[in-house]
Amino acid sequence: MTKRMASWVASANNTETEFPLNNLPYGVFSSGDSDKCCGTALGDFVLNVTQLELDGVIDLGEPLLQSAAWNPVMAAGPTVWAKLRQSLIDLLSEGSADQAHIAAALVPLDQVTLHLPFTVAEYTDFYAGRHHATNVGTMFRGPDNALPPNWLHIPIGYNGRTSSVVASGTDIIRPSGQLKGPHDDVPRFGPSQRFDIELEMGAIVGTPSTGLISVAQADDNIFGYVLLNDWSARDIQAWEYQPLGPFQAKATATTISPWIVTKEALEPFRTSTPPREKELLPYLNEPKPLLYDIALTVWLQPEGADRATTICRTNYNEMYYSFAQQLAHHTSAGCPMRTGDLLGSGTISGPEKANRGSLLEISWGGKEPITLDTGETRSFLQDGDLIGLHGAALGADYKIGFGPCVGRVMAAIPSGYW
Ligand code: CA
Repeated sequence: MTKRMASWVASANNTETEFPLNNLPYGVFSSGDSDKCCGTALGDFVLNVTQLELDGVIDLGEPLLQSAAWNPVMAAGPTVWAKLRQSLIDLLSEGSADQAHIAAALVPLDQVTLHLPFTVAEYTDFYAGRHHATNVGTMFRGPDNALPPNWLHIPIGYNGRTSSVVASGTDIIRPSGQLKGPHDDVPRFGPSQRFDIELEMGAIVGTPSTGLISVAQADDNIFGYVLLNDWSARDIQAWEYQPLGPFQAKATATTISPWIVTKEALEPFRTSTPPREKELLPYLNEPKPLLYDIALTVWLQPEGADRATTICRTNYNEMYYSFAQQLAHHTSAGCPMRTGDLLGSGTISGPEKANRGSLLEISWGGKEPITLDTGETRSFLQDGDLIGLHGAALGADYKIGFGPCVGRVMAAIPSGYW
């Protein structure tokens, strides 16, 4: 197992920090009235890499850190990704030269505002968690027909909306839409009563492509990963989803964590997908382990409550299909992929009730409400609820964290339509 790398920034050597020198995740921050800058998190600080490039301390051959988004670096390809990471490791390792100059570019994390780390080109969400697909299918179709017949052959996905991807901390307004319960004769328009979360991870395409790419090439093209909450209105979804899949149920917001954790940082945590029940077509075969061991939790804190309740504990290694397989499949009909494309993994549930990554599953369609540590119960989200996702790859003496992925549910906007 890889060991923690020592830095002259003392807080980066704390075994509890999410941001040791091994991590170096990429984000966009502002401080006070300053412009947005690119930064990397280290211990209790963010290092202003936009400033260090201006100073000539970081030199990537051309200016790539001046646009308050990581897309120029992402587009530059793996050679530049490796060069930047090595430059940062050299600058920040114990015993490095010029520490006083670098220290001047460190800003305390608790003094910054974090923004979307990259400009999202397009957004696709998948449905690649077997436990989630089985749970949802069992609720809707019974245990014998839980998985659709294509599920063990195809990483199922749908094209989402880039405009609804928001940074962690953004308030989420409860959606309204067409609702029709099983006993209603006609639909009505009103606020969703079954508003939910989906615990997912997101992969970000760095290198663009045209035409079908292999799974190995797809893995090479991925720049890094974020946590992702796919907010979902189950009652809108139930009425609208046939025959073309989710539309307005998933159009409210998708929250992502503020730090892009790079593929390099997660390399020690690679793990294999599970045994295949059905042999995959050759274009989906995996040349090496393509999942990661990343511990994931979801917590819920009602408005005014003094503590949060952990409502899910699972792991990204529960997925049936990897991001590389999803990306390869995405290109199979010729779809060009662009720098900044965001892929959602699909809800990440595990085998047990405590491992379920959505309230739909946790409360089994609302039939089994859970009791929070405050004594309140929940089947679905209530106004004022603060929801957070947490993720970390756990090494022997360090962890690779993603930072917060939170959002608070706000009351639906009153309207004359209902
Ligand atoms: Ca989803």
